[in-house]
Amino acid sequence: MFRILLAEFKHETNTLSQQKTDFESFRNRGYLTGQAIIDNRLHTGTEMGAFLDILLDQPDVSLIPVVASNAMPAGPVTQDVFDLVCGQIVAAVRQSGPIDCVLLSLHGAMVTESSGDGEGDLLTAIRQAAGEHVLVVSTLDLHANISPAMAANANALITYEAYPHVDMYDRGLEAARIVLRTLRGEIHPVMRCVHLPLILPAMTTLDANMKKLVDQIYQYKQMDHILSVSFGHGFLCADTDVLGATVGVVADGDEDLAETVAEKLADLIWQAKEKLVHETISAQQAIERAQLTDKGPIVFADVADNPGGGSSCDGTHILRLMIEQNVSDAAVALIYDPDAVEAAVKAGVGQMVDLNLGGHTQSDIMGEPINCRAYVRLIRDGRYQNRGPMERGMTVNLKKSAVVEIGGISVIIAANRTQPYDLEIFYAHGIDPTRRKILLLKSTHHYKAAYGPIARQMLSVEVSGLMPQNPKHLSYTKCRRPIYPLDPLENRR
Ligand SMILES: [Zn+2]
Repeated sequence: MFRILLAEFKHETNTLSQQKTDFESFRNRGYLTGQAIIDNRLHTGTEMGAFLDILLDQPDVSLIPVVASNAMPAGPVTQDVFDLVCGQIVAAVRQSGPIDCVLLSLHGAMVTESSGDGEGDLLTAIRQAAGEHVLVVSTLDLHANISPAMAANANALITYEAYPHVDMYDRGLEAARIVLRTLRGEIHPVMRCVHLPLILPAMTTLDANMKKLVDQIYQYKQMDHILSVSFGHGFLCADTDVLGATVGVVADGDEDLAETVAEKLADLIWQAKEKLVHETISAQQAIERAQLTDKGPIVFADVADNPGGGSSCDGTHILRLMIEQNVSDAAVALIYDPDAVEAAVKAGVGQMVDLNLGGHTQSDIMGEPINCRAYVRLIRDGRYQNRGPMERGMTVNLKKSAVVEIGGISVIIAANRTQPYDLEIFYAHGIDPTRRKILLLKSTHHYKAAYGPIARQMLSVEVSGLMPQNPKHLSYTKCRRPIYPLDPLENRR
């Protein structure tokens, strides 16, 4: 019987954010142990859902689910939470009797209070506890800052291929199949990683230049003896010494092949780097573009206030301009503001309420609160289930939420942050997103998977926020130098 330990520990850390990620942050999004992991994740469109779908009914596999913890991106993970979760996984490795594999679902861009390389520390601790003979495999987010310590302490690292991340489940299947075939002696995975001195902006794989690279990755994956090909873009808002893009290739027993393919892909990425730019427009330009047509929906993506990248989700710059310019037939998902939700609840449905909306977190960057009088349309428990292409089946918990109307703009306000990448956030709040002219979304690219089919236009609108799109607009102090585009670099080696 092959004994496989399962764990999830995910956080994308934005070092610009002053909001620490503590245990409450993990509880707000998800913290599960033991059997509850199977009960909660089975048949969901997640990596853990895929692990379970592949492994649960295998006659020669015994699963040991340890912990599944995931918090909304924000500032560094507090030391007590890292020590707790890392300690749970390491203790399970030591105390579960002989194990054959540790199969993990990690993000890859975790920064803790004491370390810029959370996953590197975690994988090092797991390897020390497990020994060299135990297979260690992990899925990673496409925005992983894959470090040398991560590469050295895992047998295989497998990143998402797509941004929007519509392939979490598929990459979970890929990892679980590699685990199963390895344990059964059918393959012998070896991995080579190539780290590039390159900070990429948040680049969707729908972008034509990025798509060429993805097509090339597909081609490499078809080669004989290649088991997996990963391109970790890195996460530009994690200012650490491991920030940067990395290629990882897993081959069947052939280290030279893994290295050759990794170097070739790294060359292609390096050659394409000048073209990998996220073009954005101003809020005023977006409003003017919307005025040119009667047809919607037109998405205004507030790309720099993406809570999925650790921003505060309470930025007010775009909404303020929309109110000032009497924009109507618009809906907003969402403004994080627990006090405003409480005020709406206190006023009651059908009543007017005076709000000091949003802008309570790092308002020097996110904008000042909007003083306004609003109509309370609806109050909810804040729960809805994703039905779209990302994390289908997972329940989102906004803790408590409301819809308030400011002029012709319906604004979802919530007591918890989330990236609104599923249409259900609107439907659950009594808003039909297909019938609004303008949808203001706190998202960089993920929304495109669900909103692409319904939107007439999708505009990347950039105002001041905690997730700037151009690396040159961040003041880095910790990342290694030289690095492109901060420094002029001819060669990547
Ligand atoms: Zn990501």
